[in-house]
Amino acid sequence: MEQSPLDLALQRLDTAARHLNLDGDVLEKLRYPRETTKVRLMIRMDDGSRKSFMAWRCRYDDTRGPTKGGIRFHPDTNEAEVETLAFWMTFKCAVMNLPYGGGKGAVRVDPHTLSKAELERLSRAYMQAFSRIIGPDRDIPAPDVYTNAMIMGWIADEYSSIVGQATPAVVTGKPIALGGSLGRDDATARGGYYLVNHLASELRLPKQARIAIQGFGNAGSHIARLFAADGHRIVAVSDSHGAIARPSGLDLARVVAAKAETGSVVALAQADGVEQISPDELVDFDCDVLVPSALEDMIHAGNAHAVKAKVILELANGPITPEADEILNKKGVVVLPDILANAGGVTVSYFEWVQNKQCYSWPLEDIHARLASMIEKEGREIWNRALELKTSLRTAAYVHALARLAEAIEAHGTQQYFAS
Ligand code: GLU
Repeated sequence: MEQSPLDLALQRLDTAARHLNLDGDVLEKLRYPRETTKVRLMIRMDDGSRKSFMAWRCRYDDTRGPTKGGIRFHPDTNEAEVETLAFWMTFKCAVMNLPYGGGKGAVRVDPHTLSKAELERLSRAYMQAFSRIIGPDRDIPAPDVYTNAMIMGWIADEYSSIVGQATPAVVTGKPIALGGSLGRDDATARGGYYLVNHLASELRLPKQARIAIQGFGNAGSHIARLFAADGHRIVAVSDSHGAIARPSGLDLARVVAAKAETGSVVALAQADGVEQISPDELVDFDCDVLVPSALEDMIHAGNAHAVKAKVILELANGPITPEADEILNKKGVVVLPDILANAGGVTVSYFEWVQNKQCYSWPLEDIHARLASMIEKEGREIWNRALELKTSLRTAAYVHALARLAEAIEAHGTQQYFAS
């Protein structure tokens, strides 16, 4: 029988558990999602018809605090994916020592087929349907694949009208004018960027590294900008329409313009030595750093052997399957794992939530400095743990998070405490 994505994700929990002496309660608690709600949303379309869309919200575990995690709008999403993503959020928040558990939500829709007014009605319908689950001290959504600041603004507004009071802390990733935080927009990429810079000598990266980026949404486009500004060469990029490459380095301003004007980076193919390549050719493109910034399972047993990068920075959630992980490990490719590498997003979400609760806003320099110091600290500890345990960084990150989750679960009393 084929394993579900959650079963595959749980393998990483089991591997980490072997390195810790855990009370049985810990795995019993972390093995299953606590609450998953499924609702069929109904909205009025612009042509007067009604249309329905499946939607989910999962609160995986709330031992360490209210559940936290984005909402994705995607045509291929499903309940198992939402639960897996919520599981990863649980570990990501623990990796960064944020006072949160993990959650996630999704709507099965291709948002590109909706008008802006339909998108607003769908976003508000989501909040109406899940208003008893979501709350500023219960479950706090944020953007994810194909959702953005404007959608978060609608969601915050809808919640505020349901409860009859302004409640910006119910959602993060909002527009700045509606209580969003400075620095949230590029935070996912920036966290990964700080991590790579902090570990640059251990990763043995050249001064001018060649970078290939899979996905050119929020995370992919910002990481390209941050790396290019430091003189690194962006040699290949892709989006859902295709991929382009230029071994001497792409002109990023033109890539961004092509994406904005035509909806795809592929429009730049044929310009000044830019060649169109297949999405799989991007995975094995000759480069120093590969940055998966799109969806899950992009690097699998079928293409992992061909990877030429020395370092993989996982800005997407779950882009490497467990089988591919093993292949990459054997090849000596260093994988900076998602629950650490892309945790900049949820970390600045946490800053936004704190600012909302304080009714105060922090300057951008403070956001950047706090993000850098937090990700560098956890990154260094995970690096050292991997050396000490002789494991991959992924296993070390899971051990790091699991130790914190276990401490919280065990603080409610262990079997030994109640039996004695
Ligand atoms: N969707 C992002 C993630 O997967 C951000 C979550 C958040 O900010 O709560 O980490």
